Amino acid sequence: MQIPFNKPYLTGKETDYIKQAVETGKISGNGLFTQRCQKWLEEKYGFGKCLLTTSCTDALEMAAILCDVQPDDEVIVPSYTFVSTALAFVRQGAKIVFADSYDNNPNIDADKIESLITPKTKVIVPVHYAGVACDMEKIMTLAKKYDLMVVEDAAQGVDSFYRGKEQEAKGKYLGSIGHFGCFSFHETKNIISGEGGMLAVNDERFFRRAEIIWEKGTNRAEFFRGEVNKYGWVDTGSSFLPSEVIAAFLWAQLENIDGIQAKRKVLWNTYHEGLKPLADKGYFTLPHISEYATNNAHMFYIVCRSLNERSGLIKHLKEKGVLAVFHYLSLHSSEYYKNKHDGRELPNCDRFADCLVRLPMYYELGDGDVKFIVDKIYEFFEK
Ligand SMILES: *Cc1c(COP(=O)(O)O)cnc(C)c1O
Repeated sequence: MQIPFNKPYLTGKETDYIKQAVETGKISGNGLFTQRCQKWLEEKYGFGKCLLTTSCTDALEMAAILCDVQPDDEVIVPSYTFVSTALAFVRQGAKIVFADSYDNNPNIDADKIESLITPKTKVIVPVHYAGVACDMEKIMTLAKKYDLMVVEDAAQGVDSFYRGKEQEAKGKYLGSIGHFGCFSFHETKNIISGEGGMLAVNDERFFRRAEIIWEKGTNRAEFFRGEVNKYGWVDTGSSFLPSEVIAAFLWAQLENIDGIQAKRKVLWNTYHEGLKPLADKGYFTLPHISEYATNNAHMFYIVCRSLNERSGLIKHLKEKGVLAVFHYLSLHSSEYYKNKHDGRELPNCDRFADCLVRLPMYYELGDGDVKFIVDKIYEFFEK
């Protein structure tokens, strides 16, 4: 038996919609499929304005431009995250001030953010790790107090909630809370288009400028809507919009989001139930979901007691045909940034970098596959 770590799921409609897009004769960006996806996302998730991008990295870069990040501005970013979360701001010349994770989950420790704020701080970038919400109430309160921007890296956070401390029935979807929310449709995420992403602009002061930056610094989108009679170069920007081929693919996925999410949650729960007895014995810890967060089953991970044990487990699983992986070498000690980091130690982040292991998680993974994997994990710890 061979169980890969990830397998992109196709709903079956992707190629039909791509064919339709191609046959319309307009295959560049901002066409019918792009607009259909954007409108659907705005309505379902309560985002102010959505713009599809070619990646979450691009959405983060757009957010960095829109936040007007200048050289020497400081941006607070968790160290346990993907490179793009920091890189998008580094390209604007910002200094990254890395923050530690909580001890019981990889999200940025909101209680430690205030001590990192200086007069130069401009942006906080919470990353909703594994699609589980950061403490947005605390983060938004700090942002208000110090007049900071908040860019949510919701690359993994599609269809997940922040519910607030009172567990109000109606919370807010991730990516709709900060000034900006950035999503990924990379083939490793829940909803995919190969490469792809989306910027949610929640503060209407930025609606117009966001569209201009998206369209190479021009007001072309306004021109196509007939709002101006010619278009030209009005601002900075880049080519951030995907072609209609990508948007058509994405539409096939969005149409099926409820089914995709439901199936992933079943798998996640099977892992959780299967592994709980071992976690109760103290061999490893299971994902912690705070009372204010929901779970979108983006990822199933466990946190081992040591680097050695994790390496052993990954090796054991591999011998049984199961590909489990680790990720995120702490960005503050990366080759690119270690000499620019201010030297503070970030112990929780380093522990997740050493001890966290991700188990296979994808739509077509069978219930029996999950039970097989759980069995192999028992074998490793108990025999
Ligand atoms: C996947 C991911 C990204 C990058 O997304 P792309 O679409 O590949 O650019 C950024 N941040 C986090 C937390 C991610 O998981």
